[in-house]
Amino acid sequence: MKQMKRIIWVLLVLQIAVISLMAVTSKVEGKALAGGVTYAYNDGWTLVGGEEISLPYFGASEAYEEVVITNSIPAQFCGKTLCFLAEHKTIRIVVGEEEIYSFGKRHESLFGHTPGGVIVFADIPHDAYGKTIRIEMCSPYRNYAASLPVITVGERASQIIGLVEDKAFDIFCSILVIVFSIFIIILAVFCKQTGNTVGGMHYLGMYLLLMGGYSLAETGVVEMLWGNQLLVSNISYVLLMTAPLFLGVYLGMMHPWLGRVIKGLMALSVLNIVVQVVLQMTNLVDFFYMAIVSGILVFSFNIVALVCFGSVVAKQRRKAQMLLFIGMLCILIGMLVDMLRVSAIRVGDMESFSRFGTCVFVICVLIVQFRMMILEQVNFSEQARKEAEAANRAKSQFLANMSHEIRTPINGILGMNTMLLKECRDEQLIEYSKNIQSAGNTLLSIINSILDISKVESGKMEIIPVKYELFSLLNDSFNINQVRAGSKGLHLEIHVNPDIPSGLYGDEVRVRQIVNNLLSNALKYTEKGTVTLSIGFERREDRKFYLQISVKDTGIGIKEEDLDKLFTAFARFDEKRNRNIEGTGLGLRLTKSLVDMMNGEIAVTSVYGKGSHFLVSIEQGVWDESPMGDFSDRYQEYLAQTVDVSKELYAPGARILVVDDVSLNLKVVEGLLRETGIQVDCAGSGEECLELVQENYYDVIFLDHMMPVMDGIQTLARMKKLEHNPNARTPIIMLTANAIQGAREIYIREGFRDYLTKPILEDDLKEILRQYLPQNILETKKEETQMIMEPEEKETDTITLEQISGLDVETGMSYCMDDPDFYKEMLGEYANDRQDERLEEMFAKEDYANYEIIIHALKNTSMTIGAVKLSEAAKELEMACKREDAQFVKEHHGSWVEQYRKLLADIAKL
Ligand code: ADP
Repeated sequence: MKQMKRIIWVLLVLQIAVISLMAVTSKVEGKALAGGVTYAYNDGWTLVGGEEISLPYFGASEAYEEVVITNSIPAQFCGKTLCFLAEHKTIRIVVGEEEIYSFGKRHESLFGHTPGGVIVFADIPHDAYGKTIRIEMCSPYRNYAASLPVITVGERASQIIGLVEDKAFDIFCSILVIVFSIFIIILAVFCKQTGNTVGGMHYLGMYLLLMGGYSLAETGVVEMLWGNQLLVSNISYVLLMTAPLFLGVYLGMMHPWLGRVIKGLMALSVLNIVVQVVLQMTNLVDFFYMAIVSGILVFSFNIVALVCFGSVVAKQRRKAQMLLFIGMLCILIGMLVDMLRVSAIRVGDMESFSRFGTCVFVICVLIVQFRMMILEQVNFSEQARKEAEAANRAKSQFLANMSHEIRTPINGILGMNTMLLKECRDEQLIEYSKNIQSAGNTLLSIINSILDISKVESGKMEIIPVKYELFSLLNDSFNINQVRAGSKGLHLEIHVNPDIPSGLYGDEVRVRQIVNNLLSNALKYTEKGTVTLSIGFERREDRKFYLQISVKDTGIGIKEEDLDKLFTAFARFDEKRNRNIEGTGLGLRLTKSLVDMMNGEIAVTSVYGKGSHFLVSIEQGVWDESPMGDFSDRYQEYLAQTVDVSKELYAPGARILVVDDVSLNLKVVEGLLRETGIQVDCAGSGEECLELVQENYYDVIFLDHMMPVMDGIQTLARMKKLEHNPNARTPIIMLTANAIQGAREIYIREGFRDYLTKPILEDDLKEILRQYLPQNILETKKEETQMIMEPEEKETDTITLEQISGLDVETGMSYCMDDPDFYKEMLGEYANDRQDERLEEMFAKEDYANYEIIIHALKNTSMTIGAVKLSEAAKELEMACKREDAQFVKEHHGSWVEQYRKLLADIAKL
């Protein structure tokens, strides 16, 4: 391909070369606009008072000396137009006695003498045959009157076209410089407005514009179109003297090291302008004489510019400056050639070659400017991309942290709640606890969805393929969702193609997620009827295996206009109707991303009000081709075998270590395993863990990932290096709340045997223990369970009566006949009959009448056990109730309850 591109460029260049050659060499007669014959009228002229001459002629003449040449007019010249270029002189042409042309004779100007250059067009009368033509010339400058270029005779129109044709290239170059420089200025202004780098380009543009104007004036075409030659030539002088100032400003800006040089040159330019204008206006010296100074200044500025561009190229090898250097070199070479040429032959405009140089330069400047803009844009996009990436990284990092920070407390809440559910007998409390469980699980699933989406968006979502049993995946999904369906009175059906291979290879967790997302949506958005999960497969021509998952419901359906937006993050529809349905609008977006990552497709058809049908097809590998068989038969088998394993785990001989910096999590594990007889040791840090593993042997170690100072991975690494480690072969399980860093296999790579995600679920914990505890310590639960529990219960720290603050034992004992056992019984009674909840309830209801009754009783009982201060405080609250001082109760209730609870807690420790 690269070769091809090169060939194309070479061909293009060749084509241009061939066409240019044809243009130069071929000539088609009579078809150009400038038709007709044009005669040269260069011979037979006589210098009055002198010899016969041929044109062009460059004689000597003094300032204001009149030079006259004469000739006779041949027949073919009659009625035609005579044409020649005259510079800086007055002209009068007479045929016979008749004046046919006059220039500069009657010109009036306020300042200066310069008549300027002019292209003379003089019409020869029809009856001029044989008459004498006389051309009288006079110049304020030396030698100009006697300088005569060639004279031509022909039709006026063809003469003009001929002249334009002769000057076509010069005119083209000048116009190109003017147009491009205007373009440069506009671009620079645009850059300035949009806050992009201008790099002094507008000054360079101005310089080129003035130089373009000057060189256009020098072509003579302006004089041909516009009669006031004097003005045109004066303007061209002014342009020439002003132009370098702009180049100076540009150079000063871009190359501050120039310092004095540029300031000096600028000062000279300003002086040049002032002096020239004053001298011209006072008629002392014309611009004409002083133009050479402006020329030298322009030349000097150009030299300085060349040095600047050259030095940057030499130092930094910058391509852009290289272009400017080449362009400027062309101008300077052109100027040198022009100077030599004009000083050698004295006529012709000063600009022919330098104009071409300027043309090259202006093109270079324009390229540089475009390049600058494009690079800036690219840099800008690059910068924007980098910033976006940084922001994304920050977001992912934030979510990773958030994942840990939020999941840890939820872990605690759900764990504690599980224990509450297990131990609680009160119907009402069980109800509350179930609500906590459900809300906690919803919160967890929302967090997981957000984390998964952020993983997808930051490109960190990975598909980690493993071998899996399709039946167990479907079985689990069916089980979970059937419970949900049942609670809503819906019918959940499952149809599985019995020929489907039973062992697949793919990301089991993500496939489960897809199935569960679709099923849970179908159940969420269906009020009555059936949800049907159908599983099939397809082998495409390329022998790839595609698992097909279809979920059909008889629910509310989706409006046609919403179908397109279904897979957009946070999109939820029919909000009014679904306002009671929990959701984030992330499920389908995530499902679509997962399907895409598995080279799959997802399609949906829906009839609003009737139901929806989601169809997913994902590529999976196959590791066991044996057909799965009838799903319902296998499901029945499974049901028959199922026993509640979690209840059965019992291993009094086992000892495990749990390491977590959050003590709540340790308590959860302890609580969940209380009835298993397993001895659970806890460590709050990696350091502590290292100490314990050197002292004791454990059957399983649970090690938290995120811990301050030394995290789980570091702890494991240190553990492996220990000299004395009785646990070298103990299975170590990673505990992790960190969903975003994903890569489930990373932990295994790090040396962990397995991992357990937080919040820890009872079933999962027991399942993993069942897997990793030595099989010989697993026992069937015996009656002695309670006996084993006893020592554990005793482990809670005990305190003595005297250590209970706020308890005046003496007073208490005095109420109990100084019988310590009776006193303890009283304390037990006091603690059993706790009133804090009721008191709180009345306080919350602002039911101060009942509040008074309770606090009154508490005042008495507290005094009875010797809680004197508490009793006194209760009395004050009672009094406040009596005088209806709600303010006092509000201020003191909190602290009173706090003290009361502390006392109860202390009594419990006795
Ligand atoms: P959500 O958490 O809101 O359920 P999803 O991304 O899973 O988020 O779904 C986006 C929206 O698509 C839902 O809010 C719902 O309006 C619509 N939707 C998804 N599945 C169904 C379905 N089976 N029946 C009707 N509407 C559905």
